[in-house]
Amino acid sequence: MSDTATGRATPQPGLYDLEPAELVTQLEAWGEKPFRARQISTWLYQRFTDDPAAMTDLPAPLRQRLGETFAQGRFTQRAEQVSTDGWTRKWLLALPDGAEIEVVLMEYDGQRRTACISSQAGCAMGCSFCATGQMGFLRNLRAGEIVEQVMWVSRALAARGERLSNLVLMGMGEPFANFTQVMAALDTLTRPEDAGGYGLGARRITVSTVGLVPGIERFAERDSQVNLAVSLHAATDALRATMLPVNQRYPLDALARAIGAYQRRTNRRVSLEWALIDGVNDTPEQAEALVDFVRRCFDPRREGRHLTHVNAIPLNPTSGFVGAASRAARIAQFREILDRAGIPNTVRQRRGIDIAAGCGQLRKRAAGGDPA
Ligand code: SAH
Ligand code: SF4
Repeated sequence: MSDTATGRATPQPGLYDLEPAELVTQLEAWGEKPFRARQISTWLYQRFTDDPAAMTDLPAPLRQRLGETFAQGRFTQRAEQVSTDGWTRKWLLALPDGAEIEVVLMEYDGQRRTACISSQAGCAMGCSFCATGQMGFLRNLRAGEIVEQVMWVSRALAARGERLSNLVLMGMGEPFANFTQVMAALDTLTRPEDAGGYGLGARRITVSTVGLVPGIERFAERDSQVNLAVSLHAATDALRATMLPVNQRYPLDALARAIGAYQRRTNRRVSLEWALIDGVNDTPEQAEALVDFVRRCFDPRREGRHLTHVNAIPLNPTSGFVGAASRAARIAQFREILDRAGIPNTVRQRRGIDIAAGCGQLRKRAAGGDPA
């Protein structure tokens, strides 16, 4: 059976998989000076390459040894698309075992440069409206494979003299179903440059979960500044369970308690994600239920401030789901109910819809699934 079939990662680790201490240990085992670790991490995280041949300040024998020991350049580009407005780029990348993942770069008004990366190849959560959910689960990504996606985007930006400013884990996969590897990747990405990391501010990163309650609890305990988003999409158990099977394991009551506990402990704002689907979850009843859910998490009327933000986005249609995006009048009505209750909310524009920038859609199209 191949690795793909068993869902195992490829056996040979890459340099991006190593913690700084592990790199030092490896170098010491080879009789190398510890300062070599800093040189190598500068190549990895500031020049975005793990190719030892490029590491010209290292002695040739060390470069050769690194090349023999560690996998490098693990991604093969399977597809690249640029939206017609030029503001969204999307790559379909293959790993050596054949697993495919998606990485998206979104640019906003010459200012923000946001990467959207994957935490798993596929996803086991089976949300009905999601292209990744429709394709099923292949395997977890290693921490290094998560980090490497950020380096891929950073390299593309550096070619134009630009830098990444924001990062969201909203590509393929459920980050809290791959908790340990995702947290290790976040540690590397937020570690300061002078400590051998990538140096992205934690406040510029957002992790999105489908609502795995134990994951939210573990994430709260980390007291990190990384932002949390929860994919809610429906505010009654009856509707949510039809869209997100995870709701049967972690219904709304348990979810509200976990979100509220996170907010009180960290004092940080949570965004609730809501894909607006015509006639399904854009009704006044759902909007009212959402107001109630927000207050069950953390009640601004009692606690004096808002720590919950609703982030709605019209559904990105996928071939495996019959729903359509909500119409403008419905969206306005939905927002009005939130506004009246004083709940902060935004409706995001759909970015890069012409290149299928929705979760999992490029892979699906490459496999003959979703039409262009
Ligand atoms: N598994 C995580 C993160 C990846 S999905 C999660 O579910 O939160 C990133 C976001 O895209 C989630 O909010 C998800 O619900 C949303 N999404 C998935 N399919 C979508 C679609 N077809 N249209 C709009 N949003 C979608
Ligand atoms: Fe998985 Fe998130 Fe898609 Fe649900 S929405 S199937 S959790 S990637």
